[in-house]
Amino acid sequence: MASTTKKSTFWENVIERGIRTVVDEMSTSECIDLTLQYGSHNYKPIPIAIKTGVGAWVTDVEGKEYIDCVGSYSAVAQGHLCESIVRAARQQMDVLTLTSRAVYTREMALFLKAVCDYTGTEMACPMNTGAEAVETAIKLARKWAYTVKGVPKDKAEIIVAEENFHGRTTTVVGFSSEPNYKEGFGPFTPGFILVPFGNIEAVAAKITPNTAAVMMEPIQAEGGILIPPDGFMADLRKLCTKNNVLLIWDEIQTGFCRTGKRFAWQHEDSEPDLMCLGKALGGGIMPVAATVGRREVMDVFRPGDHGSTFGGNPLASVIAIAAMAELESRDLAENSAVMGQRMIDGFRQLDQTMIEDIRGRGLLVGLEVKKGYDDARLQQAFLDEGILTKETRHRTFRFATPLTVDAALVDEVVARVGRAIKTATT
Ligand SMILES: *Cc1c(COP(=O)(O)O)cnc(C)c1O
Repeated sequence: MASTTKKSTFWENVIERGIRTVVDEMSTSECIDLTLQYGSHNYKPIPIAIKTGVGAWVTDVEGKEYIDCVGSYSAVAQGHLCESIVRAARQQMDVLTLTSRAVYTREMALFLKAVCDYTGTEMACPMNTGAEAVETAIKLARKWAYTVKGVPKDKAEIIVAEENFHGRTTTVVGFSSEPNYKEGFGPFTPGFILVPFGNIEAVAAKITPNTAAVMMEPIQAEGGILIPPDGFMADLRKLCTKNNVLLIWDEIQTGFCRTGKRFAWQHEDSEPDLMCLGKALGGGIMPVAATVGRREVMDVFRPGDHGSTFGGNPLASVIAIAAMAELESRDLAENSAVMGQRMIDGFRQLDQTMIEDIRGRGLLVGLEVKKGYDDARLQQAFLDEGILTKETRHRTFRFATPLTVDAALVDEVVARVGRAIKTATT
């Protein structure tokens, strides 16, 4: 145990010289060493340390600049340090930041109105992280099944897709099909049924009188940017309606204009009963998530059923309103659609020797590398070219820049990717 009578040199340093000064003096290797020594090893980051981010660009401690194609897994939709969102956050920080849900705040009231308006839904339950929004949807669907649909106690079933990614809580990894996510973490919550993604007959075959909901991502982003066959989303809506089953779209990554529409389900007539939101809702500043949906379902919660200390706090609320306002005022849905198509067209013009597939919607683009090619070498070539991207499953590199990119920057991404591919193949 550290001495409590004398301040350690570490704390003297931080308190007397200021956190900013101490951070600014750290080198890349110090940063990596401290992280590996004191941080649990649940990630394996690219060995660079990012110092600043503005718009679609990030700069590392060594001063090298990268075009951010990870986009914080789609959370930085509005660009790093988006002016209007930062301004809203700064103004709020002079007024009130955190209360708890023991009281009302005008900021949260306005946020609830804004998120329902933006999503075209009737009610919202504010949370912080995506995984919490998914847990919220699961609880809502189950309680709806028991209190509205009439499913016998503890028998509710939720149908989910293979290759899904819905977060990292024990319940959520329990219905993952990825051994990596769940091995060593059981026993798991029962009541989930896996079917192949994008297969409407497979879903239909698993529906029983006890089915509460079908919960899926409209595009499996973490799964490798996997897009379901045309018509699947609309057919799923019809199937759910016919069987009195809730349709839950997890739009945490695909939502907020990422795929060229406000929400990816809008590519087809597939309006959900519940929708999980997160990532870009936080405007690249802080975690903000929510579960939104129809009143009949949302209204099953009674006081005490569910909660979160930080959920809907005033700072998060104004940031989220500003985040949605930015998407609206700059028409980033349209920009995402146009720039995403430009990127895909550009990638298709490149040397395809090592490319297995290029797929995407809007600015959620995947570049799959053929088996037999060295994807680690390609990863390094991307970094050397100043392209920040990371492989997801299925040997697929993700290109999910902020939605603010213009044609010149998309062309720059394509040119750099072309050079990196050339380096990695020769
Ligand atoms: C990122 C993500 C989540 C989990 O969100 P966290 O904020 O990391 O908990 C859930 N679902 C999807 C589709 C995601 O992409």
